[in-house]
Amino acid sequence: MEIIFATGNAHKVVEAQKALGDNVTLIMPKDLGITEDIPETGNTLEANAIQKCQYLWNKLHRACFADDTGLEVEALDGAPGVHTARYAGESKDPSANMDKLLKELCGKENRRARFRTAVAYIDQNGTQHLFEGVLNGEIAHSKSGSEGFGYDPVFVPDGYAGKTLAEVSLEQKNAISHRGRAMRALMEFLQKS
Ligand code: IMP
Repeated sequence: MEIIFATGNAHKVVEAQKALGDNVTLIMPKDLGITEDIPETGNTLEANAIQKCQYLWNKLHRACFADDTGLEVEALDGAPGVHTARYAGESKDPSANMDKLLKELCGKENRRARFRTAVAYIDQNGTQHLFEGVLNGEIAHSKSGSEGFGYDPVFVPDGYAGKTLAEVSLEQKNAISHRGRAMRALMEFLQKS
């Protein structure tokens, strides 16, 4: 089965492909000649995921899905949340984003946080479906590890012996991650329907 994943992020495609398994072939917009930035202007993760997915569906009229992920930090009242990608500015620089986060949390005792992924899927008939995945953990005091992407070097998931997501393998990350969980929920839905 072929599905279009509305992303330009190759890391996400690798993670999604692992979670969905070999029966699903993922196609990226650029494989279909769509190279422009897909708009992402919603006020919630769900709105952004739907917006990205609907944009592609309107162009292609083919089944597609999109994800939007936010890091929600307790001591920051849920920030950066929907602004996670541009936390430190329009350049979406992961290192600058993590530096800003570590600075904001400096001296704060509560470092609890969660990653939340919203996945929107629009089927062949144009009907929207939403899925969610959550990963609870804490923000580390400094960056460690070189695996993964984004905020992985500062996120310590619960139950992983203090390791950040950037210090575990892709398989280990996928088994517990927000995106892995949301993808498996999508996969269960696809298998049933
Ligand atoms: P988006 O879902 O591509 O809009 O990502 C929002 C922000 O969350 C970006 O800064 C990403 O780098 C970050 N992000 C998304 N997924 C992950 C992840 O699995 N680990 C770490 N950071 C992530």
